[in-house]
Amino acid sequence: MKNSTIAAISTAQGEGGIGVIRISGEDAIAIADRVFEPISGEKLSEKRGYTSAFGHIKNNNETVDEAIAAVFRAPHSYTGENVVELSCHGGLFITREVLRVVLENGAEPAEAGEFTKRAFLNGKIDLTEAEAVIDIISAKSRAAAKAALLAKDGALWKKISAVKSSLVNTAAHLSAWADYPDEDIEEVTEDSLSATISECMFELNKLLSTYDKGQTVKEGIDTVIAGKPNTGKSTLMNLLSGRERSIVTDIPGTTRDVIEESVLVGDVILKLSDTAGLRETGDAVEKIGVDIAKSRISTCGLVLAVFDSSRKLDQDDIELLNSITDVPAIAIINKTDLESVIDETLIESKVKKIVKISAKNGEGYDELVREITSIAGTDDFNPSEGILANERQRLAVLKAHQALEEAQNALAIGMTFDAVNVGIEEAIENILELTGERVSDVVVDNVFHNFCVGK
Ligand code: GDP
Repeated sequence: MKNSTIAAISTAQGEGGIGVIRISGEDAIAIADRVFEPISGEKLSEKRGYTSAFGHIKNNNETVDEAIAAVFRAPHSYTGENVVELSCHGGLFITREVLRVVLENGAEPAEAGEFTKRAFLNGKIDLTEAEAVIDIISAKSRAAAKAALLAKDGALWKKISAVKSSLVNTAAHLSAWADYPDEDIEEVTEDSLSATISECMFELNKLLSTYDKGQTVKEGIDTVIAGKPNTGKSTLMNLLSGRERSIVTDIPGTTRDVIEESVLVGDVILKLSDTAGLRETGDAVEKIGVDIAKSRISTCGLVLAVFDSSRKLDQDDIELLNSITDVPAIAIINKTDLESVIDETLIESKVKKIVKISAKNGEGYDELVREITSIAGTDDFNPSEGILANERQRLAVLKAHQALEEAQNALAIGMTFDAVNVGIEEAIENILELTGERVSDVVVDNVFHNFCVGK
């Protein structure tokens, strides 16, 4: 596989100003020369890396499109191999046609994620950085994109490398000291060993503790808008999705048939589920709607409970208030543009966070964004510290942490340094799996399985 030259359309499929066909492999430049005719007459094979040429894509003698060919020479390219990127006109037909010509001239179709996989196999990036590429592409908010970009630049890798070298040095020192008692090797003391293990555990634990926050930034918070009919839930939903670009629509719920919509509020992604709409279509359906809404309230990450300030609190409102006292919730007193008759003190006695808004004219929106950001905990989120991007990474760090805990325990009960070293080495194994330095093909395939073709 390593020696084949691959090609794919690397831009999104659809109509656009430009479309890029990427070719990578030993023969990339030779193949591009067969299909690309430069205006200047200078062949791509005569060009240096990081240069480009304007010309035409030719199929036999027929012109397919105009294009700019950018040449990258190994190892100075995304994949570490020779790469040519042909930027032609965007458009489904043209890009596919150019790709077809490239394939007919000796390239093989790239598999999903194969460019990034080659970058990993050629040592251009580690596995956490490869995973960050997926996250950059699929980022739905500024914070998520920033976190992914920092990961791509190796924020997590740097953090984990420091832990790794500390453990590797310790393990090497321990073995040398135990194996060569006659040599003049500095003695390993219980105290220094314990201190090193503790420091590493502290760093790993810090990564584990920010995982949930990172997931919130990346995936969003499961949010339910609750309230009796006519309090303004739909209007609030429109306000939230209308103020900022609505990102994704129609994500079918994973466990039941609830339609979800993700909206970006400030820098927080809210995954709103539309249970409210079920209510007003008759008794039986209403009951199902209410039941679903109730069960969602107890399991979701955030409840936006809407109350109508122009009406007095009734039994339904009180029930809702009682159901949200122990969950992350914001009581939204809506319709501030009307005269208020609602009992605010009662609401204050049940819920900590209260925001007054007019969903209709947008008053109070900024305050709502502030409260949502504060509940999401994303205001003090610092991705430059390095964050774990997915379950694979979290599990590897968790196992490394557990192995160090065992090493620490072995030390505490006075076992031999050899026994302690077993735990340290297991921790190193798990860290090598995290970075991909020592990882099985199955895991690597799994990581790149999530990519699309052309990445
Ligand atoms: P839902 O049944 O809870 O989804 O409530 P809707 O969003 O459909 O709103 C019910 C009614 O209240 C509609 O006539 C809205 O125009 C109105 N409404 C919603 N928010 C406000 C507001 O902030 N001020 C005023 N004056 N009316 C509002």
